[in-house]
Amino acid sequence: MTHHDVVVIGGGPGGYAAALYGASAGLDVGLVEEHLLGGTCLHVGCIPAKELLETASLLRAVKGASEFGVDTGGEPDVDLSVSQERKRSVIDKLFKGLGSLLSGRGVTVYGGTGRLGPDHIVTVEYGEGSDQEGTSTIQADHVVLATGSSPRSIDGFAVDGQLVVTSDELLSITEVPARVAVIGGGAIGCEFASMLSDLGSEVTVLEALPEILAECDADVGAVVRRSFRRRGINVHTGVSVDGHEPAGGSTTINFGSAPDQHQVEVDLVVMAVGRRPRGDAAGLVGTRVEINERGFISVDGRLLTGEPGVYAVGDVISTPQLAHVAFAEGMFVVKDLLGEAPLPLDPATVPWCIYSHPEVACAGLTEAAAVEAGHEVVVSSHRFVGNGRAMIVGDTDGMVKVVAEAGPDGRAGRILGVHMVGPWVTEQLGQGYLAVNWEATVDDVAAHIQPHPTLSELFGETVLSLTGRSLHG
Ligand code: NAD
Repeated sequence: MTHHDVVVIGGGPGGYAAALYGASAGLDVGLVEEHLLGGTCLHVGCIPAKELLETASLLRAVKGASEFGVDTGGEPDVDLSVSQERKRSVIDKLFKGLGSLLSGRGVTVYGGTGRLGPDHIVTVEYGEGSDQEGTSTIQADHVVLATGSSPRSIDGFAVDGQLVVTSDELLSITEVPARVAVIGGGAIGCEFASMLSDLGSEVTVLEALPEILAECDADVGAVVRRSFRRRGINVHTGVSVDGHEPAGGSTTINFGSAPDQHQVEVDLVVMAVGRRPRGDAAGLVGTRVEINERGFISVDGRLLTGEPGVYAVGDVISTPQLAHVAFAEGMFVVKDLLGEAPLPLDPATVPWCIYSHPEVACAGLTEAAAVEAGHEVVVSSHRFVGNGRAMIVGDTDGMVKVVAEAGPDGRAGRILGVHMVGPWVTEQLGQGYLAVNWEATVDDVAAHIQPHPTLSELFGETVLSLTGRSLHG
């Protein structure tokens, strides 16, 4: 039986991060992946979604080019098959790069389905398409479960890949659908609604909760909703849907309840109602690994399952389902098994980035969550409409909001949350994230210089105004 210091089951961001980081720490690592290294993020998630969103963004920019005096020779159009090829080439480069990184660090990759049984023994079964046959048996001192998640649907909406799709299928479209219903107004729903609207679809978002982006600060969600409305995206919140009626290539969805009932006829339904953890994908028969009622693998603060020496990371545990959280968890478990006692990860302060137009980026507590947690808060918001760089790039919709804890004198002290919506905020969150996680105060941050002219000056202005004095804002 082959032995490794660590065997990781699942080669998405959580699993490959554990493998790469473990190998870089000198561990002998085996990585079992049944499909493609890189997982959902690389093949049907973050990377392809942002690539198509970039196509949408470029089309929007070209449509607005005449405002800058740039003549584009008529109404621009998009050929999605070209964009799909570009997406393919980005994925291929990253995929090859990941394979090289793993082999360069001496990680042994097993291309099959891994099942964990008792005594840290993992059986790898090689299926069709694998370059090996039969099974291998591996034993490891530590095992990391990183089996990820898959899109879920709801009753009445069987995913057929034609009329009803999830992110798995939507990210491969080569034609822009004329009319689309997006069910779910979370991160995926808002990104897809924004992308399809920019590409020319008529989009309706149907969200069960009273607000879209319900987990974001209410002011941020309101900016996105207003912007969507201005762009002609129909957003219906607080609505339930329980099925659709296909006819002649399109389908009709009834939503709302009497007397406030509506219907919408569309050519495509996009399900964006969350992702289901693949808790039992690694067998686990004869182990003490527990799966909770929602399908997540149960872990403690060290990400250890009920089976000693077996960790779980990424979408399969109930921490935020984000690739960068999975990276952090993958590194955390390596440090933990090496006895380095890493600081536990706090799900409440991880960075969030949503690549819709306008973009959303935040870290830390929303104003409502801070108040609910018992903090006295001082809050300041500044809008991009007054920011020089935002005017220059022609994208002034949005704002930065900073939530700080009030000191005994009522002055703003520690920064609890930073919430951004607007141009390129996903690239501006860094200093807000550090402020929250370094437990910086408003005075600490205000003492630093923001380069001019930049979009990030708005974060500086917002923090500066919390000191009680201000410059432009
Ligand atoms: P989500 O949980 O963030 O949002 C799903 C939304 O669907 C919720 O608002 C929910 O109220 C709504 N919903 C559920 N059932 C419904 C119904 N029957 N009718 C109408 N609405 C309904 O999930 P998601 O947007 O699918 O994303 C899945 C995961 O992937 C999330 O954890 C998300 O954060 C993550 N993700 C993040 C990003 C990003 O941060 N850029 C991008 C993609 C995915």
